Amino acid sequence: MVPKRKHCSARSKKRRGGHLKSNPMTTIACPKCGEPMLPHRICPNCGNYKGKEIISVSEQ
Ligand SMILES: [Zn+2]
Repeated sequence: MVPKRKHCSARSKKRRGGHLKSNPMTTIACPKCGEPMLPHRICPNCGNYKGKEIISVSEQ
């Protein structure tokens, strides 16, 4: 006898645990200020995204 059906992809992924999923805490360095920030997000330190200041960060 052979298995009648293959496992579905969800079952295979569940068995493999977490080593296949990408790291959720990936950060890039801000090109403006060099601070680590989430990719495709406005920089929380200087408020810049794609070379433009989107939000004004109060400087003290
Ligand atoms: Zn920045």
